[in-house]
Amino acid sequence: MDTYDVAVIGGGVHGLFSAYAIALRGKKVIVCEQFEFGHLRGSSHGPAKIHHLSFPDPDYVKLAMNALSLWQKIEDEAQVDLIETNGCVDHGSASTISTLVKAMDTHGIASEVLDRSEAKYRWPNLEFDESVVFHPGGGRIYSRATLTALHGLCINLGVEMREFFEVKNMFDDRDGAKILEGERESIKASVVVSCAGAWTGELLEGVLDIPKPKVSQEQYLYFTSRDPGAIWPNIYHHGEVTYYCKEAPGVGIQVGGVRQGTYIERIEDRDFVIDPLVAIQVCDYAEKFMPGLDPHPTSSETCIASFSKNGDFIVDRVGNLVVVQACQQMGFTFSPIIGKYAADLATESQFSQLRFRLP
Ligand SMILES: Cc1cc2nc3c(=O)[nH]c(=O)nc-3n(C[C@H](O)[C@H](O)[C@H](O)COP(=O)(O)OP(=O)(O)OC[C@H]3O[C@@H](n4cnc5c(N)ncnc54)[C@H](O)[C@@H]3O)c2cc1C
Repeated sequence: MDTYDVAVIGGGVHGLFSAYAIALRGKKVIVCEQFEFGHLRGSSHGPAKIHHLSFPDPDYVKLAMNALSLWQKIEDEAQVDLIETNGCVDHGSASTISTLVKAMDTHGIASEVLDRSEAKYRWPNLEFDESVVFHPGGGRIYSRATLTALHGLCINLGVEMREFFEVKNMFDDRDGAKILEGERESIKASVVVSCAGAWTGELLEGVLDIPKPKVSQEQYLYFTSRDPGAIWPNIYHHGEVTYYCKEAPGVGIQVGGVRQGTYIERIEDRDFVIDPLVAIQVCDYAEKFMPGLDPHPTSSETCIASFSKNGDFIVDRVGNLVVVQACQQMGFTFSPIIGKYAADLATESQFSQLRFRLP
C-alpha cells in the first residue's frame, strides 16, 4: 500500500492550498480528488471570485489582509496574475455600512464613504442603497487560473495529484496512521486533511462526530454591459438578500445572491438546475440596481455552498485528522491563509486560530 506523510482529501482551492503549504515543509503529500481537477461540481470553479476586506467582523478583516499578502506570494511563485486589486463597493443601510467601515478602520484599511448621489456620479451604470463605501484594496481573484497555478505548483513540489479517487471510507490502523479506502485502492497516511467542502458531512459521517454543515445549491447569472467601456466594480449590496456582482473578463458580469439557494440534505440531492424563481429575482434586482446591464442574462451556472452552524470557518485537528471547512460563500478570499493553518495543524499540531476550532 502506498504511504504518505499527509493525504489531502479534495482538490478544490482549500485542498490545493493546503497540499502546497504542507509540501513546502518537505512532507510527502497526496491529493485525492473524487472527480477530475478543475471540475464544476463543487465551490471553487468559475472564472472569478471577489476578494474584499469589508467584513463586519474585524477578525475577518485582519484574516483577509493576511491572506492578501500570501496571494501576492503565490502570484510570484506561479508567475501569473491571480488577483486584481480593482476595488470593491459595499452598499446598504447606513448602519450596515458604518459597521463595515468601523471594522476596516480597526485595521487601517483605506475606504471612502459616499452618499448615494456621489456614488451614482462615479458609477452611472449602477443605482445605490442608502449608504456606500468603496475600498480600493478589494478586488477579484481569477479562480480558475488559481486552481491551475496551484495544481502546477503542487506537481513541482512532488505532490501526487490523484483524480477520480473518491475516499469512501477511512479508519485508523494499528500504527495510528489513517487508511483511506477508495473504490479500487487504499492508501495510508500519517495525517489526513479533509478539504471536502460541501461533502464534508458525508465524508466524516461515522469518522468524527461534528455538526454537519448546511449545504445549499446556489446560482448566478451572467449579463452584458450596455456600454462595453463601462467600469464594473466588485459589489456587495447588503439587503434582505445580499447581492454581489463581479465582472469576469471575457465571460460577462456575474450577479447572484448570497444564501439565496435551496438547502439540500444530502449532496446527491443537488440537481444542477437553475431555479427559475431565483433567476427572476436576480433579473429584477439587476434591472433595478444595475441599469447599465442588459437585463437579459446570457448564461448561468450553479455552485455548491456550505455553511457552518456559527458562521465561522473550521480549521482544526482531532488526532490524525485535520478538518477544513471554509466556504460561507466567501472562503476563496481566505484560501492561502486557511491552507497555511491546515499545514500548521498537519505538521506541527499548532492551533493557530482558536476561533476556528471544532465546537
Ligand atoms: C455561488 C458562490 C459564490 C462564491 N463567491 C465567492 C467570492 O466571490 N469570493 C470568495 O472569497 N468566495 C466565494 N465563494 C466561496 C468559495 O467558492 C469557497 O469558499 C471555496 O471555493 C471552497 O473551496 P473548497 O476547496 O472548500 O471546496 P470545493 O471547491 O467544493 O472542493 C472540495 C473538493 O473535495 C472533493 N471531495 C469531496 N469529497 C471527496 C471524497 N470523498 N474523496 C475525494 N474528493 C472529495 C470534491 O470533489 C471537491 O473537488 C463562493 C461560493 C459560492 C457557492
